[in-house]
Amino acid sequence: MRRERRTKIVATLGPSSSDPVVMEQMFAAGADVFRINMSHTAHDRLRTYVQAVRGVEERCGRPVGVLADLQGPKLRVGTFAKGSAELKAGATFLLDDDESPGDAKRVQLPHSEIFAAIEPGHKLLLDDGKIQLVVTEVTPRRVATRVEVGGQVSDRKGVNLPDTTLPLSALTEKDRSDLEAALEAGVDWIALSFIQRADDIAEVKKIARARAAVMAKIEKPQAVTRLSEILEAADAIMVARGDLGVEMPLERVPGVQIRIIRSARHMGKPVVVATQMLESMITAPVPTRAEVSDVATAIFEGADAVMLSAESASGQYPVETVATMNRIAEAVELDPVRGSILEVQREAPEATGADAISAAARQIAETLDLPAVLCLTSSGATALRVARERPRPPVVALSPKLATARRLALVWGVHCVVTPDAGDLDATVAQACRIAYREGFAKPNQRVIIVAGVPLGTPGATNMVRIAYVGAGDVGD
Ligand code: PGA
Ligand code: MN
Repeated sequence: MRRERRTKIVATLGPSSSDPVVMEQMFAAGADVFRINMSHTAHDRLRTYVQAVRGVEERCGRPVGVLADLQGPKLRVGTFAKGSAELKAGATFLLDDDESPGDAKRVQLPHSEIFAAIEPGHKLLLDDGKIQLVVTEVTPRRVATRVEVGGQVSDRKGVNLPDTTLPLSALTEKDRSDLEAALEAGVDWIALSFIQRADDIAEVKKIARARAAVMAKIEKPQAVTRLSEILEAADAIMVARGDLGVEMPLERVPGVQIRIIRSARHMGKPVVVATQMLESMITAPVPTRAEVSDVATAIFEGADAVMLSAESASGQYPVETVATMNRIAEAVELDPVRGSILEVQREAPEATGADAISAAARQIAETLDLPAVLCLTSSGATALRVARERPRPPVVALSPKLATARRLALVWGVHCVVTPDAGDLDATVAQACRIAYREGFAKPNQRVIIVAGVPLGTPGATNMVRIAYVGAGDVGD
């Protein structure tokens, strides 16, 4: 079974998609990676989801990725005596450390670190930015604000601080326990929310000890400012447009999205574009023109993956929404404009053996119009550098490690196959050719490109490119 597109699809699991039959239909429709949102998922449910995805993988015979998304330090106000309060523009509103229920004059802000870091003039946004406050005065246990944009605020609504760098770790107690549970359940990717700096990633990596790869969600302006150090530290990034659109003016998000995609591609790190991509499909069987155009924009830019959130987790059309994304990706990738955009945006190879080989492999494959670039990759590093080249033919990554294959499910253009160790180089090349035939990537007597590090299995030693024949004998098994 092979996909006819290079861009990958991440689909979030939830009540609408918890049935393994639905999951299997979503996979068949095009989902490459399943995301579990830890903000809404208890640990027993997490385990059920992971087992169900592994079941789909088993039945479909293709590696499937699982991403656990940690909530991170999502800030919230306390409660109100009447459940909510109406804040009027121009009024003064206090946020303090007093647990007693709030009213139109004050409410608890149960995160004492904020009082030490916030400054007069900083913005404080409530309920996804619907209510805007500006800080006028700060004391150690209280923040006074002026209401700029008023409205109704209710119990435990979210707080965003776009101007304030908080001395908070990106890992809360809940995140630590969710992280342990996710690693225990054997997920492939961990995503970390509201990170502000590279150290936040380092902390998760230390705990994960390579049991899962780590994705940084870019959803704060501070993270945008420190993008290159974060990209350096993370294994992948997500353009988390939901919170990003609250923390910075919405109209700046499209430009930031393009810059993040380009920086990630430059570094050869997978990049996912997320949130509201097919939002109207939560309740409708067809998307809006604007949504189709939005998904297309991410694909034209060469993002590794596009993501569905509520559309597949709690919407009425979890399977149709994946099928729609699949159709958009296939059509956009066939558009001649797309090839020319990728051509113009191609990243120059870095001065490493791996990049020189990857660039050569792409060039040979394109010059000879070969049907596939085959990568022998143990850690997945070789496949990532080849994918960075965004070659015209598909990349078939052959790895003896199932964990590598599952992680690579997120990566642009990579079709992963788990292969047993075949022994010496010639046997491995012959096996790769057989697999390219079997998986529908090459026909007998066609040539393919093989990229590898020799001796095989040495991580980080990409040093070989070879043209191999798919012989008539390779068709046998
Ligand atoms: P979330 O992250 O769905 O966990 O909030 C994505 C986003 O903010 O866009
Ligand atoms: Mn978010």
